[in-house]
Parts: sequence; structure tokens; C-alpha cells
Amino acid sequence: RGDLGACDREVTSVCPYCGVGCQLTFKVRDDRIVWVEGADGPANRNRLCVKGRFGFDYVAHPHRLTRPLIRRPDAPPKGLNVDPANPWTHFREASWDEALDVAAAGLARLREAHGGRAVAGFGSAKCSNEEAYLFQKLIRQGFGHNNVDHCTRLCHASSVAALLENVGSGAVTATFNEIENADVAIVIGANPVENHPVAATWFKRFAKRGGKLIVMDPRGVGLRRHAWKMLQFRPGSDVAMLNAIMHVIVEEELYDAEFIARFTENWDEMKAHLRAFPPEKMADLCGIDAQTLREVARAFAGARAGMIFWGMGVSQHVHGTDNSRCLISLALMCGHVGRPGTGLHPLRGQNNVQGASDAGLIPMFLPDYQSVTDDGVRSAFAEIWGSGDWSAEKGLTVVEIMDAIHDGAIRGMYILGENPAMSDPDLSHARAALARLEHLVVQDIFLTETANYADVILPAAAWPEKTGTVTNTNRQVQMGRPAVPPPGEAREDWRIIVDLANRLGLDWRYAHPRDVFAEMKRGMKSLDNITWERLEREAVTYPSLSPDDPGQAIVFGNGFPRPEGRARFTPAKVTPPAETPDDEYPLILTTGRQLEHWHTGSMTRRSRALDAIEPEANASLHPRTLARLGAKPGDMLRIETRRGAIRIMARADRAVAEDMVFMPFAYVEAAANILTNPKLDPFGKIPEFKFAACRVTPEPAA
Ligand code: SF4
Repeated sequence: RGDLGACDREVTSVCPYCGVGCQLTFKVRDDRIVWVEGADGPANRNRLCVKGRFGFDYVAHPHRLTRPLIRRPDAPPKGLNVDPANPWTHFREASWDEALDVAAAGLARLREAHGGRAVAGFGSAKCSNEEAYLFQKLIRQGFGHNNVDHCTRLCHASSVAALLENVGSGAVTATFNEIENADVAIVIGANPVENHPVAATWFKRFAKRGGKLIVMDPRGVGLRRHAWKMLQFRPGSDVAMLNAIMHVIVEEELYDAEFIARFTENWDEMKAHLRAFPPEKMADLCGIDAQTLREVARAFAGARAGMIFWGMGVSQHVHGTDNSRCLISLALMCGHVGRPGTGLHPLRGQNNVQGASDAGLIPMFLPDYQSVTDDGVRSAFAEIWGSGDWSAEKGLTVVEIMDAIHDGAIRGMYILGENPAMSDPDLSHARAALARLEHLVVQDIFLTETANYADVILPAAAWPEKTGTVTNTNRQVQMGRPAVPPPGEAREDWRIIVDLANRLGLDWRYAHPRDVFAEMKRGMKSLDNITWERLEREAVTYPSLSPDDPGQAIVFGNGFPRPEGRARFTPAKVTPPAETPDDEYPLILTTGRQLEHWHTGSMTRRSRALDAIEPEANASLHPRTLARLGAKPGDMLRIETRRGAIRIMARADRAVAEDMVFMPFAYVEAAANILTNPKLDPFGKIPEFKFAACRVTPEPAA
């Protein structure tokens, strides 16, 4: 730090990356962030991971968009063909007025010619709560429907569907820090050491003080070194394994009969359903011996206080909602909800995916998960908004919107801060959809892969350049503060959305994000007792029961927000993955993130330190699998699924099962999502990113 010199300003804000929501202090000199330190936030207590500490220089990267861009009439056909350092053959610079006029006119033209449904929107979990709220309001009030979604559809939509169905709320029931009060914890389908690294420090400390940590994952994730038991189950067999564990709890009468009688419903049906899953019968299917399944069942049910954490290894399956239903049932039957050291905690991915979902940036719910099909809810929001008459039909989700473009039903899009040209499954299909759009407005900080297909690009401020609130995985609402000014003419997202809304015929008057927050509070009970002024002083966990209450770290101690206050047991059947390995495609492809790279890489691959550690795309295979294929680490491999093929370097990793291939999805030059399966979970509408049948062939050296 010594050679970085002194800073002239310090600004405390929130990390722009994962859902842990670490507070950090930007040290600023001459309007540049020169280093970052951890701050004493409720989730991190001064800790940061490598991304939060070193991944800040993307903000000053020369690729930042600094002026609005408009596609040239003589530009080459739309495709993934724009050089972000030299976009001038495709785009020309424009003034804000011209760009906003062209952006709005294109969307309005489609609305007039084909109806509002011809236009859909993707908002962003990287923006503030206020921006997410404004974005969904723009689509609903301006276009009259609910075809608005964001990346929650690709991460925890199935978990939220199961939580809403069975406990009546889509958020965590306890903060991850509550693990301090637990004596047994299950972490399943998550790799927190890489994806929620600061949360992982709590998990490691729990194990160190003697807590029983049970890690369940088809991949031998980093937390296994701290685990009491590591269950490396067969990919896709989650429901069979969890039902077998619950079978033991019923068979040996280890359940909490008092909790079940007082706070749940459908127990008899659940018990009857579980009879078909004795561990001895499920062991082969899930690849875990019956004795281990029994020991895990006894440990979790016998715990004084137990918690369950899960990640996208649970949610990103065609049976993702069923996986989550099982986890909820397991916690309920053991009475492990609503007390210190107990709870259900899906580890949320993006820094504000919780807040964006709470703010209504999803096609089936208005803010606070109030159903769009409820006439009373829609008229309440129309009153708050001053006008509005929009469809009572649930809107289309991310992958469905791409399909609707191919069908010709959707002809224009407004995409804010999302990168579907990298993040959607079956990318060839998604990119072809983007290329078909008659009018695409992209608002972002870089000329992303998605912006390659845009007609108008609106340059936005990055997170350390703007004001707004965010909500982390713990339900903690925190204030983001601007540390540096946006480059060139880039503007805060909320201002751009407002300017566009007014050009689309709406009459919006907001002078500051606090005005938006004040409006949100009128329709969101979850924000009761949380004010802008309070958030300027402190983080507040919702629900907060009084102006002095820091918020409830644990909820549902006295019943659930469901009829009669009862949570529900929903039995889950075993559903196979949408495609299974065969002679042609004998291996299983699974995708995920790495510690150093964030999602589609647009920020972290432009961060010097992070890109230096992980500069190249790699596919990880077990050394024996590589040997069988006649390949070694560093060789180039061709990986193919029924949707496409990519070329990528081999990495050896003993943690990957012998019939699996693991790939991160941050690298455009070897985009994993060219290969992934777009088949959806029927409830959460989440694609099966975690399971595709693939084949691997060594490529001859170049
Ligand atoms: Fe940022 Fe998440 Fe790392 Fe915390 S754990 S510093 S929020 S990326």
C-alpha cells in the first residue's frame, strides 16, 4: 500500500460483486479508486475476498462507455462482431438527447404498431433497489404487461418458488452469520469458498469450533476440507438423496413432532411419500452409502440447532424447485426454522439479486412478491403510480422471452446491465434472438457482448459512481455511495430510466433516488421502519419492527406468513435431468463461477489483478478422465453438446468426478453457455445449467 501513496478521500459503500454484501471503503485519490479496505458491515465485519479487495479497477478501464452510441445505418449485420476498443464501424457517438429520442422512438414505434407486448425488458441485479423498481415500473406502466425479468431467473428462481410456496416468503429465514449459533449445518450445491468467500469464513470458523459441517455436492468443493461429512453425490440425484435422509428421520422418529403439529401442514402425506425412499434403495442412485445417509439424518435431526445453506447446484436443474422443496421439508420436520442457529438460507448470487426481486423485477410479482394476478394489488400500485392499467397475466421469463423473439411476438427490448449474449443457456439460440430484434436498447458500463446487438447504447455509471440502496442475501438493506464521478457523459441508471420513461409518454418526477425509495415504501411493507435517512447511518435488516430495531436476523419464530401460520410439506418425486449421458455424449457438463471471475466477466476480466490470476478459460476434468481421453493439463479440448461445440484448455482437478466436466462461464472465447441446456424447471422457469450430456475430444496441437 505504501507505494500507492496517500488518498485524499474515503467513501464507505458496498461491494459490487456477490450477494454477501460486504461493506468496504474506497480510498480515492484524484478521483480514482487507489485501494480498498474492508469496512465493519453486518455481513463481513471488515473482511473482504479477492474480488472486493482487488477487483475495483474495472471502473477506470479504457473500455468504459463514455458517450451514447447509435448504430450506423451502414453497420455490418448484427452479430458478435464489435471490437469494444474500436466500435466505430458499427456505431457513432450521439448526444444524450438524440440517443434517448432514438431509443424511445424505436420502442414507442413497436408499441404503436404491434402493442406493448412487442417490447420486453431485462433489468439488473447489479443496480440499486431504486433502479430495479423504476425499471419494472417502466415496463408495466409504459407497455402494459409483465414481460420483465432479470438474472434471478438464472440463479435462484426455483428456490424462491419453493420458499414462497412452502414458507410464504422468498427470502432467507436467517442470516448466514447465524451459523455461529448452530451445531450442525448442511451446505449443499454451493461452493462458498469461491462464490461467497466471506460467508465461507463463517462456515470455516463454525467447523473449527466443533460444529458439524455437512457438505453435499457432486463436485468436491473447497469447503470439504472443513467438513465432518462430504457427500459427493451423483449429479442430479439430489431429490433421491434428500428423500432418503428424510426417510430415516421418519423411520427412526427423529422428527420434531411438536413443531410439526403447531407450525406445519401436509405432514401425513409427506410421511407416506417418504416410505418409498429407504437409504438402502437410494444408495446406488445417489452414490452415497446407506450408512452415511443414516448418520447425516441422525446428526441433523438430533442437532439442537441446524441450518441449511444452498446454492445454484440445487436451483439450476429442471427439478430445482423439487430440490428446494426437499430442503425446506428437511428443516421443517426437524424444527430447524425460527430459532437462533436454525434456518433456510439460499445463498443469493449477485450483490442485489435479493433487492431487485423484492422490488418487483420479476414477471409474476409486483414489489414485495405481490401477485400481478391480484386485481387489488394492481390497483394499489396504479394508485401509487398515479396511473397504470397493465395485464393481469404473469409475464414471460428470461428464456421464454428469447423464445418469443424467435416466434416474432417480441420485437424490441430494453436491456439494462444484463448480458444474455453470455449468460443465457444455448447461446447460439439466444444470440440469434438478439440479432432478430428490430430495436434493442442496451444500457451498460461496457460494450458487452449483448451491446454488440444494440441499436442504441446508453452509457451508465458503475456501482462505485452512484447512490442507491442494495439488499444482500441476509435481507440487510445497505447504502451504496458514490466514490468517484462517472467517466465522460455516463449517467446513473435511475436518471436514464426516468428520461426514457418521460419520452415514452409517462410523467415521472424524481429528483433523487431517495424520492424513489419513498415511493417504494408506500407499496412495500417489508420496508416499514426503514427510511433513507436511517440507511445513511446504518444497515437495516428487513423486517424491522420499530425505528430502533436493527431488523430481524431470524424470522418465523412464531409461525409462517401462510394460511393459519403453517408452513407446508410438499413431497418431491425423483425427476431425471432433461438429457442424460449416452454413447454419443457420455460425460456430464456442469457450469459455475470461479473465485476471481464474476459471471460473464465484463467487470473482472477488466480488472488487472483478477485477470492476471485467471487469464484463460479452462475446463476441469479428473486426471484419470484426462488420461483416458489421451490428454493432459494444458492440452486443448473440443467439448460438444447437442447445442454446439467449443475449444478450451484442459485443467486437471481431482475434485471433479470422473464422469464430469466443470466449466466457468465468464469467457467469451470459450463460452460455456454455447453448450448448456435451455430446458426449464416448470415452476421457477430456471434452465438446467448444472447438467448437460457432453463429449470431449482432445484437439491436435496448433
Ligand atoms: Fe464482495 Fe462477495 Fe467478496 Fe464480499 S464475499 S468482498 S461481497 S465478492
